[in-house]
Amino acid sequence: MKIAVFPGSFDPITVGHVDLVRRALPLFDQIIVAVGINSTKKYFFTLEQRLEWLHTVFANEERVMVDHFQNLTAHYCRRIGARYLVRGLRNASDFDYEKTISQLNHIVGDGIETVFLIAQPEYSHISSTIVREIILGGADPSPFIPHQIKII
Ligand code: ADP
Repeated sequence: MKIAVFPGSFDPITVGHVDLVRRALPLFDQIIVAVGINSTKKYFFTLEQRLEWLHTVFANEERVMVDHFQNLTAHYCRRIGARYLVRGLRNASDFDYEKTISQLNHIVGDGIETVFLIAQPEYSHISSTIVREIILGGADPSPFIPHQIKII
């Protein structure tokens, strides 16, 4: 069984994340959308809230599971038997950052492969950071978040 982990903060989940999962589904048997908890990082939404949104968005997708983990992504993958990671690339700075992380995961995770999907043009400007700024600015974030969920 080909299991892939799609790790992220999902703070909050955006239509860009959903598009990535949809495009990765034909490549794997199962995709685990996993919220990584970094104890040194401050999040905008609580873990419970972020997980609830993920559960709602992927409720009808049999081959998508939602989970969360602490510490190293590679160790989490080993624990659940996943040999692949999925990540998205929106621009050159994503690439620079992701390249190093994927090389590290390959070593620490005994050959874990990261599969990168290039963001579609209509989603490449969308990030959780932008959504948070829209919310903080008092504007409506709904064009950027999945239709199944309501923020605010
Ligand atoms: P992290 O804090 O680990 O970067 P994010 O939740 O911000 O977590 O992102 C998780 C993954 O989703 C990353 O690989 C990121 O590149 C990808 N991603 C985020 N937004 C988009 C988008 N609009 N299109 C494609 N991939 C995206």
